[in-house]
Amino acid sequence: MSGLRIRDLRVSFDGFKAVDGVDLDVAPGDIRFLIGPNGAGKTTLVDAVTGLVKASGSVHFGDAELLGRPVHQIARMGVGRTFQTATVFEELTVLQNLDIAAGAGRSPWSLLRRRTSVPTVVSEALETINLTAQRDQLAGTLAHGQKQWLEIGMLLVQDVRLLLLDEPVAGMSHDERDATGALLGVVSRDRTVVVIEHDMDFMRSFARTVTVLHAGKVLSEGSVAQVQADPKVQEVYLGQ
Ligand code: ADP
Repeated sequence: MSGLRIRDLRVSFDGFKAVDGVDLDVAPGDIRFLIGPNGAGKTTLVDAVTGLVKASGSVHFGDAELLGRPVHQIARMGVGRTFQTATVFEELTVLQNLDIAAGAGRSPWSLLRRRTSVPTVVSEALETINLTAQRDQLAGTLAHGQKQWLEIGMLLVQDVRLLLLDEPVAGMSHDERDATGALLGVVSRDRTVVVIEHDMDFMRSFARTVTVLHAGKVLSEGSVAQVQADPKVQEVYLGQ
């Protein structure tokens, strides 16, 4: 398993410093929550890690440097992300979505070299995301939470090792939130996970480290209780 090590990450848009010298370490198999007011640079940081925006500094996943590589290469190195609005093929079934994702970006030869067959990978993912009963249902007819889980499943079948999730429980019911918590617990057993999140109760249930970003910099880091008690954090949230 590999960890994430970010050093002096910087992203500018026309001179505006959206990410301004961020250091971040996530241990292999850990879950790190990323919080901060709107415009803090959370999405831009994830964009930089996944190759969507140009950045300086260094981003190591295990021994591999991700910065400077194109998006598809970073994806093939086992880095995957979700967006706030789940991007699934609504006109296709749950199973078809997973089948397509399992073959995405891979040559037939690499599919043949996989240790487990695509059907096995897909049925394992179906179980993990709790959608086995919905496998033949059109993705467009799934509940909001189920769509988010399907999107995560589409990354699992691509053998993602570093998972970056953008507000995975936003708009979810209490039960869906609990189920997502359980899913993250399972998924992080053999993956490193970074979650942009606002829901303090959800984060507290994990008792993991939270990194607070503000104006492109790390403002505070610690447990949910520690960052909530940090006067610097209180100030930026009250100032919103
Ligand atoms: P967060 O996800 O924490 O809300 P973002 O990373 O989306 O923050 O944005 C950080 C800052 O960078 C914001 O001020 C935003 O307006 C700016 N920004 C983000 N993307 C772009 C872009 N493509 N062009 C110009 N400015 C951008």
